[in-house]
Amino acid sequence: MTSSAFAVLFVVAVAVTLGLRLWLAARQIAHVRAHRVATPAPFAARIDDAAHRKAADYTVAKQRFGMIEAGIDTAVLLLLTEGGVLGWLIAATESLATPPLVRDVLLLCAVGLIAGVVSLPFSWWRTFRIEERFGFNRTTLATWLGDLAKGIAVAAVLGLPLAFVVLWLMRSAGAYWWVFAWIAWMAFQLLVLVLYPTVIAPLFNRFSPLPAGAARERIERLLARCGFRASGLFVMDGSKRSGHGNAYFTGFGRAKRVVFFDTLLARLAPEEIEAVLAHELGHFRLRHVVKRVVWSAVFSLALLALLAWLARMAWFYAGLGIAPDTVRIAMTRPGVALALFMLVLPVFTFVLAPLAAAYSRRHEFEADAFAAAHASAGALVAALIKLYEDNAATLTPDPVHSAFYDSHPPTAIRVARLSALAPSPAGT
Ligand SMILES: [Zn+2]
Repeated sequence: MTSSAFAVLFVVAVAVTLGLRLWLAARQIAHVRAHRVATPAPFAARIDDAAHRKAADYTVAKQRFGMIEAGIDTAVLLLLTEGGVLGWLIAATESLATPPLVRDVLLLCAVGLIAGVVSLPFSWWRTFRIEERFGFNRTTLATWLGDLAKGIAVAAVLGLPLAFVVLWLMRSAGAYWWVFAWIAWMAFQLLVLVLYPTVIAPLFNRFSPLPAGAARERIERLLARCGFRASGLFVMDGSKRSGHGNAYFTGFGRAKRVVFFDTLLARLAPEEIEAVLAHELGHFRLRHVVKRVVWSAVFSLALLALLAWLARMAWFYAGLGIAPDTVRIAMTRPGVALALFMLVLPVFTFVLAPLAAAYSRRHEFEADAFAAAHASAGALVAALIKLYEDNAATLTPDPVHSAFYDSHPPTAIRVARLSALAPSPAGT
């Protein structure tokens, strides 16, 4: 391939991805607005029109904002690559009197910093304007800034050693460096999995044992019934930041923990909490978690092999805006290939999003069926409706937008399937 052909391919991919993102957002906005006036019939008894309209307005506000963000993201990507900013950063770090490895780490940090600075105003606006306007935000500026500082610290403590290891392997481990880098990456993932529940998550939230009571008894019986061992049931102070509710599993093996947001416990009846947990349990029992890990392992190995190949191609650098006289230097610096690869990869993989989303939605249906078998389908329906209302998710998504993005099936379809599994009509 020639560098100009690759430049054209890249710019076309950027345009197609941006066009798709904007088109999908516009579809979603139009569809939600067209169904804004009244709650769809199957939900009319449980969700009033005011709540339905709030969900519509919230969805539209988020989509509009997402369109602006997509435009800015694209502009920044083009500036970094074809606009020559990365070439300038390569030259700037090249002249530093530090070991080559440190230069490359600094280059990656600079790119990460630019991406972080660009996303910061968006994050602020989302939290303090959009979430605030719809009454979900509970974060103060101090908490938000504290989260930011902790996030940077965690990224530095975990990310810098990983960057050093990968860049060192790229430089020193020969033609098959990508196999070793993959092993390092998998080990890193495992480490994060171990550290997340015990070290990382507690930096941001307080976790306390789930208090005794009706909910706890039901949950313990459910876990015993499904032969599931967990090393603890915890409540997380999610209400510190947001009114949205959730429940999740974390850790692995015997160190698994079940975490409930306090917002979820406050809102759901014990039977409903049990049903939500049964769904999460389904993901574990049906090996969805393991399947995901295997897929991501295969995918990351393929991507690293691709990176190893691209890093040796002059057109890869020249096509992405590296000036001809800098390409020779760039090809001796693995940090450049890594930075370019991470920047442009999402542009080429965006069209695959519907495949990943469909795979995830299939798992959601399977977990729902598991929950219906081990707890009450009717209670899960009741819980889902409350959660959708609390999160102001739309009941009327555009089908194409949903197929592209939604990791969970649209509520209406999910509730219809669950109601068919329930021995008695939904809502009892
Ligand atoms: Zn699920």
